[in-house]
Formats: sequence, C-alpha cells, structure tokens
Amino acid sequence: MRIAIAGAGAMGSRIGLMLHETGNEVILIDRWPEHIEAIRKNGLIGEFDDRKIVAQLPIYSPEEIIEEHETVDLIVALTKSMQLEQMFHDIQPIIGSKTFVFCLLNGLGHEETLAKFVPKENIIFGTTTWTAGLAGPGHAKLVGSGSIEMENLAPSGKAFTLEVLEVFQNARLNPIYSQNVRYSIWKKACINGTLNGLCTILDCNIAEFGSLTVAREMIEAIVAEFAAVADAEQIHLDHSEMIDAIEATYDPQTQGLHFPSMYQDLIRNQRKTEIDYINGAVWRKGQLAGINTPYCAFLTQLIHGKEELLKAK
Ligand code: NAD
Repeated sequence: MRIAIAGAGAMGSRIGLMLHETGNEVILIDRWPEHIEAIRKNGLIGEFDDRKIVAQLPIYSPEEIIEEHETVDLIVALTKSMQLEQMFHDIQPIIGSKTFVFCLLNGLGHEETLAKFVPKENIIFGTTTWTAGLAGPGHAKLVGSGSIEMENLAPSGKAFTLEVLEVFQNARLNPIYSQNVRYSIWKKACINGTLNGLCTILDCNIAEFGSLTVAREMIEAIVAEFAAVADAEQIHLDHSEMIDAIEATYDPQTQGLHFPSMYQDLIRNQRKTEIDYINGAVWRKGQLAGINTPYCAFLTQLIHGKEELLKAK
C-alpha cells in the first residue's frame, strides 16, 4: 500500500518504520527542518527494544508535497492536534478521491477538522496504546509493545478499513477492528484529561499525583465533566470505569513513575500542549451544549498560563 505519514514525529516514525519494514511504500511528511535534514542525511533511525534499524525513507515538507503531487492510498495522521488542520490544508494535492485518512491523534474534535478535507466515508479513526519518543531529530526510541483500535466513520468505508487492518496486522502493529471507536477516543481523552494537565501543573509523576489526598476528588470532578459532555454526543462514559482506569495508572510497577506526554512536552521541552483538544475541547463543547465545566476550563487556562510563562513554542 502507498502510505503517507502526515506528521512524522515520534509516533509517526514508529508507524512509518513498522509499515515500511513489511513492504509498504511509505513517505513521511513533516515540517521540522532539522528532522527532515537528519533523515535525508542519515536515514530514519528506529531504536526498538531488541533491534536498531536505519530506514532510507523519503521525507518531504508539505510545500514539497504540493510540487510532487502524487496521490496515496492512505494517509496516517500523526501531527500534534494543533498542527492537524494546517497539515491537511497543505497536503490536499495527495488526497485523491480514493485516499483514506486514518487519524491516530489523541484528543477530541479531529472529526470536524478532517471532514473539511476528506469525505466522511474515507475517514478511519483509531486509538493506540503503542508509545514512542524522539532522542533527537531523525532518531526514534521505540520501547514496549501496544495495540491499535480502528473503525471507519461511515459504513461504506468498512471494506477498505479491513484492508488497512490487514496491512497493520502484517506490520505487527496489533490492530483490532473497534465496535465503538468514539467511545475509546473519549475514554482515552478522559484519562489524559485528568493525568496530563494535573501532573504538568503539579510538577509530579503519575504515582506522586495518585498519592495526593485531593487526587480522588479532583479526578471525580473532571471525569464528571467529561461524562456530561460526552453524553450530549451520545457517548456514555461509565464513571466508575473511568475512575478505575485512571487509578490503575498510579501503580509504580506499571505507569506510575512515568511523566505524562504533556509534562514532557511543556516542562521538559517548552513545547505547546494539546490541552485545547482535551480539557479545552470539553470546555468548548460544554459551552455549546449548555453544560458547565469549571474544572476543565480552569485546567485549560492554567496550562495556557504555564505555556506563556515558559515561552512554549
Ligand atoms: P511529536 O511531537 O513527536 O511529533 C509531532 C510533530 O512535532 C512532528 O511533526 C514532529 O516532527 C514535530 N516535532 C517533534 N519534536 C519537535 C521539536 N523538538 N521541535 C520541533 N518540532 C518537533 O508527537 P507524537 O508524540 O508523535 O504525537 C503525535 C500524536 O500522537 C499526538 O496527538 C499524540 O497525542 C498522539 N500519541 C502519541 C503517543 C506517543 O507515545 N508519542 C502515543 C499515543 C498517541
């Protein structure tokens, strides 16, 4: 399959490398000049648990893609949330009438953004438990294992989605066909909507957050806001399932010692966060539906305040 990875950062590199290793024609699209230069010079380095590979993958900036102009079968969207719209605006020349988009970003509201550029029948949504990091430009650190859930938004897209599933299966990305991907997306956003922002503002890891006297009260308030707004979209988040899923991450033997990605982006690397697509999206959607979300609103403002103080880019 001819596949473009739109946003070839940490996770885009993982998916791109694993699809390339199993014989797909993969092209990378990215805007980070140092990353593009490093990949062109040295190839894309992928350091897995048990092996290190160097792949000579073609990488283009969106401007170069406009000149190339050859459509692809599949675009895997893996920008950060705030980069998605500009990316799809710029890469329209490679979106043909049969091109599908598979969105694996975290966060809420991407359906509306992608629908501006691709018919709903050609959109697949998913979530993943795979993780990825970058040691520097052109160098991905790919530890652990994971899985991917995927489902087409419109019934007519199912046949091609099953083809994509097979391609991902061959690449050992452990995909499953989801029966309700919107629920999984909201569930993941709800977990991220508690741990990401709170650990970032409190400057602590997940286990330290979990040990706080006020932890339960705070996560209950945030989960209640997510559940109320999800309800307005006919997605019914189970309150105790969410609390259990969040509290399960406190264990230092599993994820407890981990600092959430928002912490790493903002505190360690002074990069802007995806808060507007997590708590910010709940706040925004809540306003439209007449639902008060004071915790999500305040957490969004706190993170934006921190971004300003740290001059995040
Ligand atoms: P990323 O920050 O690694 O990459 C996103 C974009 O930012 C890429 O275009 C990349 O080139 C650019 N970028 C990365 N580092 C940069 C730097 N230092 N300076 C300038 N530009 C830089 O993002 P990601 O972790 O791959 O995440 C992509 C999407 O996948 C997000 O929605 C994220 O929430 C989601 N996701 C990530 C993981 C993970 O473990 N990384 C897991 C699940 C979901």
